[in-house]
Amino acid sequence: MSSPVWHPFTQHGLGETIPRVTRTEGAFLYTDDGRRIIDAISSWWVTTHGHCHPAIMAAIADQAGKMDQIIFAGWTHEPAETLAQGLVEIMPPALEHVFFSDSGSTAVEVALKMALGFFANRGEPRSRILVLEHSYHGDTIGAMSVGARGVYNQAYAPLLFDVGTIPYPAAGAEQATLDALEQACRAGPAAFIVEPLVLGAGGMLFYPPRVLSEMRAICARHGVLFIADEVMTAWGRTGTLLASEQAGVVPDILCLSKGLTGGAIPLAVTMATAAIFDAHLSSDRSRMFFHSSSYTANPIACAAANANLEIWRTEPVLERIANLAQRQAAWAEQLSQRPTIHNARVCGTIAAFELASATGTYLDDLGPRLLAFFKARDLLLRPLGNTVYVMPPYCIDDASLTAIYNAIADASDTT
Ligand SMILES: *Cc1c(COP(=O)(O)O)cnc(C)c1O
Repeated sequence: MSSPVWHPFTQHGLGETIPRVTRTEGAFLYTDDGRRIIDAISSWWVTTHGHCHPAIMAAIADQAGKMDQIIFAGWTHEPAETLAQGLVEIMPPALEHVFFSDSGSTAVEVALKMALGFFANRGEPRSRILVLEHSYHGDTIGAMSVGARGVYNQAYAPLLFDVGTIPYPAAGAEQATLDALEQACRAGPAAFIVEPLVLGAGGMLFYPPRVLSEMRAICARHGVLFIADEVMTAWGRTGTLLASEQAGVVPDILCLSKGLTGGAIPLAVTMATAAIFDAHLSSDRSRMFFHSSSYTANPIACAAANANLEIWRTEPVLERIANLAQRQAAWAEQLSQRPTIHNARVCGTIAAFELASATGTYLDDLGPRLLAFFKARDLLLRPLGNTVYVMPPYCIDDASLTAIYNAIADASDTT
């Protein structure tokens, strides 16, 4: 009998088998048919330190013994208070306020609503949002609206709102991006939303810190709010706690999720400057921030995030990341010698390559063929079209990394 489960981004009509995972540990998933799978993409970019980090799992168990969900509108609890304080301490000083939600998409929706609320409450309503070409910000209607359009959201296009798209700062064409942003900012949009340094789902496209800092400066000059979507890039992914850090950029609004709990349990925050918060501050209830979700600041998820922050404070996380970044760079260098591998690039713990054949569109059959090839080698790798990327948990060992890169090398020979 087939399962009633409807999986995300899965064409059930193809009848592909769906492995059943029973246990996770470190960089590995274990399946019910006795296989050990190397998680080369951190389970879609969420796992940072490794699966089932003992301190995070213990914090979850401990909190689960004390308190489950409580209403967060007008009520509070220690795990959320501690987490907000911890985030304010570890993140850039200007980001003084922490709004909780439960996924990257909702963190983005909240950021957009904060930006519009900021201008509405100041009596100068603005609603236009600027976005970077090839961006991805999530799969809800608002988040899709500010992301790239393609086959994956074509059916919903009539519901997506209009945005101003700034060209991606391809190497050599950075000035065109900056000029287009400057031009678009003159028309008085509310905000510009960007993935700092790495456009993830858009194909692991990298751009230099200098471009990020110049984009931020342009927005500041024109009074356009700068939203950094660090849902994927934060928590050390690009080599630093935040990718923005490498550009000396402090956004007006910051979206965090994925690695916030080390990847153990869903939670997101949208952090904002005092100016954004203060625009909603009034004795008039109609100016409050009108957003809530049922599970806002779930205490168990907050406890997991607090354990993650404690790991960042007490373990040599940045050293581990630097070490992984170095190993990734060495492998990328080695792979780049092969004629079928193009555009080998590394940003912190992320390495990405294009395989030579195929047209590179999402539905091109190279992607699925590669997926099947890697699956057969007990590897969790999920290419974006012909872009193969490696983004493992920071704890991955050399043998596993070697297995991943040998498989990519073999794939580049045979596909
Ligand atoms: C994954 C991702 C999101 C969406 O997060 P979800 O938790 O899947 O809703 C938003 N922005 C970026 C940059 C992402 O990588």
